[in-house]
Amino acid sequence: MMFDIIIKNGNVVLRDGVKKVDIGIKNEKITCIAEQITDEANEVIDASGQYVMPGMIDTHVHISEPGRTEWEGFETGSKALAAGGTTSYVEMPLNALPATVNKEALDLKLDAAKTQNYVDYAFYGGLVPDNLDKLEELSDAGVLAFKAFLSNAGSDIPGDFTNVDDYTLYKGMQKLAELDQILCLHAENADITSKLEAEFIREGKTSAMDYPDARPVIAEVEAVQKALLLAKETGCKLHIVHISTSEAVQAILKARAEGVDVTVESCPHYFSMSAEDVEEIGAYAKCQPPLRKKPVQEKLWEELLNGNIDWLTSDHSPCTEDLKLQADNLFEAWGGISGAQNNVDLMFDLAVKQRGLSVNRFAELIATTPADRFNMPNKGEISVSKDADIILVDPNQSYTVKREDLYYKNKHSAYEGRKIDCRVTKTIVRGHVVFDVEQGIVGQPIGKLITK
Ligand SMILES: [Zn+2]
Repeated sequence: MMFDIIIKNGNVVLRDGVKKVDIGIKNEKITCIAEQITDEANEVIDASGQYVMPGMIDTHVHISEPGRTEWEGFETGSKALAAGGTTSYVEMPLNALPATVNKEALDLKLDAAKTQNYVDYAFYGGLVPDNLDKLEELSDAGVLAFKAFLSNAGSDIPGDFTNVDDYTLYKGMQKLAELDQILCLHAENADITSKLEAEFIREGKTSAMDYPDARPVIAEVEAVQKALLLAKETGCKLHIVHISTSEAVQAILKARAEGVDVTVESCPHYFSMSAEDVEEIGAYAKCQPPLRKKPVQEKLWEELLNGNIDWLTSDHSPCTEDLKLQADNLFEAWGGISGAQNNVDLMFDLAVKQRGLSVNRFAELIATTPADRFNMPNKGEISVSKDADIILVDPNQSYTVKREDLYYKNKHSAYEGRKIDCRVTKTIVRGHVVFDVEQGIVGQPIGKLITK
């Protein structure tokens, strides 16, 4: 047997444990896992001292192309994902213009994405107040899931994304249940958050420590509770994105125990930074829901370590630097964190090395569970016949995040200057090496569309 690639001597993260085995890759697939593979190969990769695990499946990424390509594009965004150890991503229906709320808009995006991606990709359709009659065409066109906002989506530009009213949410969930689609929801109460923010600005309370008070824990919990009620009533599969509080996680667990089909994600920034850190980092670390104060963050850590958060996403949500720097205060700055390039290494350092999470649980959090939930049967684990989407992770390398190493179109990050004690050293997408720590991005944009 002549393999394309053999990965030797690594600590391979399999579904049932970490084993020292070799992996043979042929025609983009994992075709052999054995204690020792002695056959020939075009390329032999020595993974001694490193973990070999499934690449991250980042189900929450904003690329902004077409229409707002000055923020991010498929080429730059997918390079950053590849460099960070992500092998597939699902792109959000907002920030591009027009928003992905009908087939016409999806076609524009498919066209823009076609030849530019270094990793595999899929799309969301949006649920907004005027597109209930477009959900079916989006579903038929292959979107993997739908996304809606309960909080204000933050723009009044024509063609941009808008948040749902209760009627749209109810009717939309009925329709998505029929279509067997998952609704992913940004869950914060729009009325409470927008009016509290306006009040805080009027009163001049605009510091980093004020911001989480203007988007309080109850605004998240109330929105989650409403969505859970409607999911129970309509039978719609529900996924709550970027949760920031233990209280919301507990509400989700309770509903799940009562039979609601619901999952929940959180993001590295809720674990790696707190509101106290935002005082120092500034608007680069502004996002919604906000980074919480330390005691709230500590409770979220407990949920993660107790297995109550299903998976991790980046919510890579870039913008031009002026939108971060030219605002009068934190409240006026654009919200969204550029993070796609530092998910795996950062969370491996914080959760596995510093807090003792098992490597197997880590692989579930970044790959296996999202692949199962989003129905990607070829992805999410290292086993024979799956796509060879594999990363090498060196737990003994350290590096400092530097602006010049970022692949984002806008080279800023909340993590600039941060030392991370772990490093992704290689990213392989369907058997193609797309990133190597010595050479950077290599090869061609071989990313392919994943459809439902
Ligand atoms: Zn987002």
